[in-house]
Amino acid sequence: MDERNGFLKNMVQGTTGLMEPFWVTLKHLFRKPITEQYPEYKRELPPRARGRIVLTRSPDKEERCVACQLCSAACPVSCISMQSAVRQDGRRYAEWFRINFGRCIFCGLCEEACPTLAIQLTPDFEMSEDDPLKLIYEKHQLLVDHGGKDPDYDFYKHAGVAVGREPGTHDNEHPAANPKTNFP
Ligand code: SF4
Ligand code: SF4
Repeated sequence: MDERNGFLKNMVQGTTGLMEPFWVTLKHLFRKPITEQYPEYKRELPPRARGRIVLTRSPDKEERCVACQLCSAACPVSCISMQSAVRQDGRRYAEWFRINFGRCIFCGLCEEACPTLAIQLTPDFEMSEDDPLKLIYEKHQLLVDHGGKDPDYDFYKHAGVAVGREPGTHDNEHPAANPKTNFP
């Protein structure tokens, strides 16, 4: 009798185990799919998602980048390079500016380091290429005609040294300190 019961128990357990995967499959057959069909459907990413890098302009449409090299120094994979130059009016700019997106890890450290808000990451991530050399972007591919995340920011009005203006004469700037007044 015990032998018969054991056989029946094993049979029930075996059949249940065998049917379980079919049951799981059957359940999922009628569920709404949670996958998104890319590229037909493109999810809108948050504005601060870290993708393709751009070089932005200040409100007066001048290039923000002053070729200070801080982004290049902050980049952990050394994928930013540039050559600085000075305009006739004394303002610095990048003669050429290059980013190798084949190496970029989209960490955002360059954006954090930039004092002028020139370099910014955008939510655009569709940059695949069949030739790695096409991932090296030159200045004309990076430069955009807007201010990005903070369109009203102008480095030269807030913190930068405006050409031809004395220290202490910029917007919201305190008068320049005279260290000699601190002498005993
Ligand atoms: S996002 Fe990171 S890796 Fe890419 S250029 Fe900027 S600092 Fe370098
Ligand atoms: S992008 Fe910003 S940090 Fe990089 S060189 Fe230009 S001003 Fe300096």
